[in-house]
Amino acid sequence: MDTANDLIVLRPEGLYCPPGNFYIDPWRPVERAIITHAHADHARLGHAKYLTAETGIGVLRSRLPGIDAQGLAYGAHLVIEGVDVSLHPAGHVLGSAQVRVEHGGRVWVASGDYKVEPDPTCARFEPVRCDTFITESTFGLPIYRWDPAAEIFGGIDAWWRHNAAQGRASVLFCYSFGKAQRVLAGVDRAIGPIFCHGAVEPLNRAYREAGVDLPATRFVGDIAARDKAEFKGALIVAPPSAAGSTWMRRFGDYSDAFASGWMRVRGSRRRRNVDRGFVLSDHADWPGLQSAIRATGAQRVIVTHGYIEPLVRWLTEQGLDAGSFSTEYGDDAIEADIQSDNQINNPSDIQANIKAEIEANIEANTETNIQGNNQADSQTDAPSDTTIAPARSAP
Ligand SMILES: [Zn+2]
Ligand SMILES: [Zn+2]
Repeated sequence: MDTANDLIVLRPEGLYCPPGNFYIDPWRPVERAIITHAHADHARLGHAKYLTAETGIGVLRSRLPGIDAQGLAYGAHLVIEGVDVSLHPAGHVLGSAQVRVEHGGRVWVASGDYKVEPDPTCARFEPVRCDTFITESTFGLPIYRWDPAAEIFGGIDAWWRHNAAQGRASVLFCYSFGKAQRVLAGVDRAIGPIFCHGAVEPLNRAYREAGVDLPATRFVGDIAARDKAEFKGALIVAPPSAAGSTWMRRFGDYSDAFASGWMRVRGSRRRRNVDRGFVLSDHADWPGLQSAIRATGAQRVIVTHGYIEPLVRWLTEQGLDAGSFSTEYGDDAIEADIQSDNQINNPSDIQANIKAEIEANIEANTETNIQGNNQADSQTDAPSDTTIAPARSAP
């Protein structure tokens, strides 16, 4: 294949568009960065100019104060040095976008992170036709299949209602940006009061300012530590780093749970040491990746992060020209560990957790194979440490 005219190439700084002279989600400082969404591994400090989806500009500024950022409405076109650039909903978190670039009769789309199922807190994923599609693969293994969101929220509501009836607080751990707001929008707000951790509240504010309907929430820190009764029957939304910390003491009697796609893997809940695990992800599952990729009509697909190898193999089997870029994007679990309040989780803990997740994935993958109901092949399908979670430093 002649790659000399590729519209997006890999450079040490990140994904680069040579004719347009701009980067997409670069991990090193550059002049002009187009940002797919404001998660820490995709949106970093240090670039001279930022361009992102109009609806995501509030969250981006709240996470990276003081940056020179411009918003572009979904579907609007901007010509950068002769390259036609437009942003299209990725359905991942508020303001998340796929970047479409067109030049010299070629069309490339870089997805950032995405999910295909509807989410009331962000615009729905929109398939964009292209010649080459650059995709994530965070949950690119056949074991990852999500239940409908309504079912998952039914489970969360039932857990919260039961705890409330027992006079207990319900503490739900989830990533502060994106997942927390999706949880807030999805639960039955009639069950009881809702409180949020200090890492979650500023993002709630940015979502409300962008017009997303969230229930009323209160900041946990506004309640005096001795007023445990305030939390009886309440739902408390907090980042995973709060688990097991002294911050939890104020809730008196509580049940805790973790909401994440990683909860699909046996052992994750036990390792997190929580009472319940809810499998709720903001990434495409295995069938979602397949349908999203097919819908682009792309003949060439480049995988950036997550389970790269299994997805590349599947794409090749479909007769597509498939490859990968070695990027510094992580998964949202690492994001959560980094963004959270400077407590717990030193890098070696994170590495240990990741190793445990990988081992659990291998185990789960192998077990499902024995049952013979999916396409994964064998233990050799398991990605290496570097493909699942490239080591990277906090921005
Ligand atoms: Zn993300
Ligand atoms: Zn990502």
